[in-house]
Amino acid sequence: MKTLLIYSGGMDSTTLLYKLLADGDEVRCISFDYGQRHKKELEYARRICEELGVEHSIIDVRSLNELMQGSALTSDIPVPEGHYEDENMKQTVVPNRNMIFISLAMAQAISLGFERVALAVHAGDHAIYPDCRPIFIQKMQAVAAIANYEKLDVFAPFLTMSKGEIAEVGRELGVPFEKTWTCYKGLAEPCGKCGSCVERGEALG
Ligand SMILES: [Zn+2]
Repeated sequence: MKTLLIYSGGMDSTTLLYKLLADGDEVRCISFDYGQRHKKELEYARRICEELGVEHSIIDVRSLNELMQGSALTSDIPVPEGHYEDENMKQTVVPNRNMIFISLAMAQAISLGFERVALAVHAGDHAIYPDCRPIFIQKMQAVAAIANYEKLDVFAPFLTMSKGEIAEVGRELGVPFEKTWTCYKGLAEPCGKCGSCVERGEALG
């Protein structure tokens, strides 16, 4: 299977990258520079792909940043601290991000003759991110099947898994979690307090 992975350089999508390779897929990665605060994740993504010998495109969509405002990840709004379930975490929702990313990745997948687009959304995301919920993924799958002459699949194998379960899969596959980047703040070191750091810390124990 030829799979294009939407790759952030974080622990979930890195685990999915390892899983796809272990499954024998022909994998290529696509990352987006959308003016995110934690842009350094792209450097982490680039390094891992290089080490694995996986082709990787970093697509510059910074000009779309003005369409994706109002989030702590794309605007000058402080990054909230705590768990994903907390009300203030809604400040990290980027307007329509996954629909935009899946749509752009679909275009590349078709251009390359690939059969599916993969992404590492998981159950822990469901609380605050509507574009990570099963109903959204199902609808995107339906659209991907009819939007072009080429029938594409949207593959989200971690959809009903917790981040802890993903960590388990990653450990079994030998994922080098220390080489992945998760923190939303994008400072020199992970802050340990933002939602992303908290969830990661609990998953990796
Ligand atoms: Zn953090």
